Amino acid sequence: MSSPVIDTRWNLPASGMPDSWFNILPRMPEPLKPPLHPATREPVGPADLEPIFPMALIEQEMSSQPWIDIPGKVVDVLTLWRPTPLVRARRLEEALQTPARIYYKDESVSPPGSHKPNTAVAQAYFNQKEGTTRLATETGAGQWGSALSFACSLLGLECKVYMVRASFHQKPYRRVMIETWGGQVEPSPVDDPDHPGSLGTAISDAVRDAGSRPDTHYSLGSVLNHVLLHQTVIGLEAKKQLDLAGERLPDVVISSCGGGSNLGGLSLPFVEDPEVRLMAVEPSSCPTLTEGRFDYDFGDTAGLTPLLAMYTLGHDFVPPSIHAGGLRYHGDSPIISELVRSGRMGAVAYPQGKVFEAAVQWARSQGTIPAPETSHAVRAVIDEALAAREEGTERVILFNYSGHGLLDLSAYDDYLTGKLD
Ligand SMILES: *Cc1c(COP(=O)(O)O)cnc(C)c1O
Repeated sequence: MSSPVIDTRWNLPASGMPDSWFNILPRMPEPLKPPLHPATREPVGPADLEPIFPMALIEQEMSSQPWIDIPGKVVDVLTLWRPTPLVRARRLEEALQTPARIYYKDESVSPPGSHKPNTAVAQAYFNQKEGTTRLATETGAGQWGSALSFACSLLGLECKVYMVRASFHQKPYRRVMIETWGGQVEPSPVDDPDHPGSLGTAISDAVRDAGSRPDTHYSLGSVLNHVLLHQTVIGLEAKKQLDLAGERLPDVVISSCGGGSNLGGLSLPFVEDPEVRLMAVEPSSCPTLTEGRFDYDFGDTAGLTPLLAMYTLGHDFVPPSIHAGGLRYHGDSPIISELVRSGRMGAVAYPQGKVFEAAVQWARSQGTIPAPETSHAVRAVIDEALAAREEGTERVILFNYSGHGLLDLSAYDDYLTGKLD
């Protein structure tokens, strides 16, 4: 006798993809503090941003519309892999002997392997629509650079990626992905070949590039309001899929946090459900939300970007070279920062040894190999599930499986051979 088959995966048809993005700005507990001009320290207006961003994105950055339509051409590209599955991690639940039910949104199924193309496609589209033919951006380990290069190739734009020099040399495979999709890669900082680089220096290089060429705009993969807006398709789909799975609302929603985009994408649609706990997970070596100060700071090292009101470790902070490159950023999204400051969202930090321990436990029960960034969320999920076991209470945990780790195997090698710092 075979045992009954139990559902562990809820898919939506392509027509189940949301047709609008969810805008948190008019629903924030308190309005955000405006970005300030780097020279005058006055609030920036649309005219200040026009040299580097298209008007549509500037409007989204400041919009008070509760919903914003997703253009058909963006939906056309996103449905190459969206809606993404909602999956229940039953084998992990069994391994942990927890009464908690663990669900995840699988954003690793996109062509570049993470949630990042959700905004890359939208940004490439709005730039192309307003006549820009080339985008410049930064990348750390290469996830964002590969997502933007992918989006540019499908929408017919050129793409220039300034890559943190240390990663350029140590992590060639995402550079090759960027080049396969037609993008051009240059190590950053461009003016100091002995400097290992950081996300801050690469942002400075990309902003300078975009400011100096009329055909080029700048594109940022996280932090800004319009980026989190584009990522809300994740949480909107998850709500429908939880319903299909027979759940009401999750008790807790968990995501890793670098600049806040996969976290915002999954959790913003739950902000107005007060019974849902929201949780950010960051590395203890770059503890922006848990140990940073809430203040105006620059987004880059050179001080070229507007000042944002956010949790920050200081724009000259150079994080140690931990393996979760996507979480090595000195600042954080102003939306996420305000949610944490107001107490609507909680934050925890973990050292990378504990994170890889969780990643390996995941791989040995669920089978897939998560990105080191994603593994921060997995760590917090396991601890949440163990707490449910201790208390003997059911709870529904939802988390963002933001990307796969198949291009991060050298990090796993370091962990498995005891070479992790
Ligand atoms: C970039 C990245 C992150 C962190 O960036 P956020 O903007 O905070 O989401 C997390 N997970 C993966 C897989 C990434 O590529």
